Amino acid sequence: MAGAVRRRSRGEGDHHAITGPHDTRDDANRASTRHHPFRRWGPRPVSTYRDFAHRGSARATVLRTVSARERRSHLTAPRVPTVGIDIGGTKVMAGVVDADGVILEKVRTETPDKSKSPKVVEDTICELVLDLSDRHDVHAVGIGAAGWVDADRSKVLFAPHLAWRNEPLRDALSARLAVPVLVDNDANTAAWAEWRFGAGRGEDHLVMITLGTGIGGAILEDGQVKRGKYGVAGEFGHMQVVPGGHRCPCGNRGCWEQYSSGNALVREARELAAAESPVAHSLIDRVGGSVQDITGPLITELAREGDAMCVELFQDIGQWLGVGIANLAAALDPSCFVIGGGVSAADDLLIGPARDAFRRHLTGRGYRPEARIVKAQLGPEAGMVGAADLARLVARRFRRANRRRVERHERYERYAQALRNSASPRTTQEP
Ligand SMILES: [Zn+2]
Repeated sequence: MAGAVRRRSRGEGDHHAITGPHDTRDDANRASTRHHPFRRWGPRPVSTYRDFAHRGSARATVLRTVSARERRSHLTAPRVPTVGIDIGGTKVMAGVVDADGVILEKVRTETPDKSKSPKVVEDTICELVLDLSDRHDVHAVGIGAAGWVDADRSKVLFAPHLAWRNEPLRDALSARLAVPVLVDNDANTAAWAEWRFGAGRGEDHLVMITLGTGIGGAILEDGQVKRGKYGVAGEFGHMQVVPGGHRCPCGNRGCWEQYSSGNALVREARELAAAESPVAHSLIDRVGGSVQDITGPLITELAREGDAMCVELFQDIGQWLGVGIANLAAALDPSCFVIGGGVSAADDLLIGPARDAFRRHLTGRGYRPEARIVKAQLGPEAGMVGAADLARLVARRFRRANRRRVERHERYERYAQALRNSASPRTTQEP
């Protein structure tokens, strides 16, 4: 009870499952204020978040902003290695990453099937972390999940590849792993990594676009991830670009990702191959006539070799990319677009046409500064590195709690030793 009062008064209790044993040093302070009739207005050692929130003062708004906390702490977060985990549709990647974004060790496994219970995914994550903890100190764990994460970053609202529906992932994992856990969307963590260590360094208004099977995205302003009120901002892939266009699994038609993504690339190539178009002969030859074997990496390879049709497919994808980017520039006006994801491996085959289309479609072109469009630098590890770096923001909390835990354990040890010492004369005299 006493511990709960203290935690509430310091505004920590509702953020993290990791709460150290209560600190006896605070007991004296609290005892003097706990029963004071005008406690809320009386002199207090520390003004707390909850007090401000209760009174509705202007400062409460500032204090309540997660991103403000984030901005303060990414510079002051402890420079300890943390574990980042990227949970994608096919694989789970986990790695120990130091404070400079260097990957110290990396392990990976397959993503459990969608039919498996959320517990199985948790087991997978715990196994990876325990494996890494054999060789490294684990101070905190960051998770980048392919799905919608709520604004508190505690629950996964929905994940298309997993059985997560309103899954309280952060608390479940931090209870099992006994370290602080941070959960975020994988595009957000990738954007964070590119901003901290990659192509977006030094940019204060950055938009990340990840071209994989679909389009993911994230918005970073002044070093804060813009998550939106409900945590699901950045779903650029489902902006409508062609009314009545291709059907999208989201239920709508003409979504951007139906025209500019890995899926769009492969769909167009397969259509041409299935129609036995003469322009697709080298592609058909390469897969021995089996249209289903046409993949994104194969198209990229042929385009690099100069195959005219594959180059043209990338031009189409790139052009649609530029159109979407021009729309985003109109809405958000960032200084830099970072293009990541598997499809971005095509480099200038994709980004060249995207830059051209962006300039042609940018509203007010000629009268406004143009945002840079650059390729991401961190590759497929970006999501993992970003998750680990974000986890350092909560690692400090753990260290504080942990230090108290250690201090208390030491006090207990001294106490136990004293007991043993006082008992020892009798036991040593017995023989
Ligand atoms: Zn859609």
